[in-house]
Amino acid sequence: VLRGASPEKVAQWIKGRRIDHVERRGKHLLVALEGDRAIHIHLGMTGRFVLRRAAVDDVSHARLTLELDDGRMIVLSDPRMFGVVEIGRTTQLRAKLADSLGPDPLLERVGGTELCAILAKTRRPVKVALMDQRSLAGIGNIQATEALWRARIHPDVPARNLDRVAASRLARGMMRSIEAEITALQGSGDADLEYLQDAGSANPFLVYGREGELCPRCKSARIVRKEQAGRSTFFCPTCQVRTGTKARGGRPC
Ligand SMILES: [Zn+2]
Repeated sequence: VLRGASPEKVAQWIKGRRIDHVERRGKHLLVALEGDRAIHIHLGMTGRFVLRRAAVDDVSHARLTLELDDGRMIVLSDPRMFGVVEIGRTTQLRAKLADSLGPDPLLERVGGTELCAILAKTRRPVKVALMDQRSLAGIGNIQATEALWRARIHPDVPARNLDRVAASRLARGMMRSIEAEITALQGSGDADLEYLQDAGSANPFLVYGREGELCPRCKSARIVRKEQAGRSTFFCPTCQVRTGTKARGGRPC
């Protein structure tokens, strides 16, 4: 998972440095150390942090272990190694992330107007456009799926066809989905809801992972699953429609 540096070089860069703070943009973390040094971490598909009270060697797929001065260990476990660990100057890494990522809805305002302008730039399906980190940072497959259901928008609608009213509904749906997921995470004490679901816990989502179940809103249609750009999308064929688009006379952005 180390990019552009050997384990020795990474150790040399961070050893003995106090952690100043941790910041986030989209799915990227910056662990800012004193002296304008930082560790940039992206968890990829399967990465997660494990905290250990003492030096034990029981974490599987450990890729990076940070030993703190009080003896605790922060271990980055990543079975499939899609994650990224990179070192560099805090200021440069922060600038690089800001350049390569779109606005983050938890850091900047992304209301109907902003979202409409972002979506107007592409004819790709709205679900795919929402997950493009270059236009919007931090929205993953689950949030995009849930947000579209909340906004009653079909995932196949070309992004640029949405009008202002639909974009506003989608912006609200997006924020509610993010907030609901954070609340569920805080309640579960685990950092990975998909993992919890695999482990047999109750599905915390409205439609994600609910193929064949009755739609929780209209309670008449069953949730459909389809592949879209290589990812599973779940939607209600009755309430998620193609109305509210410019093609039907809606107001443009
Ligand atoms: Zn429905």
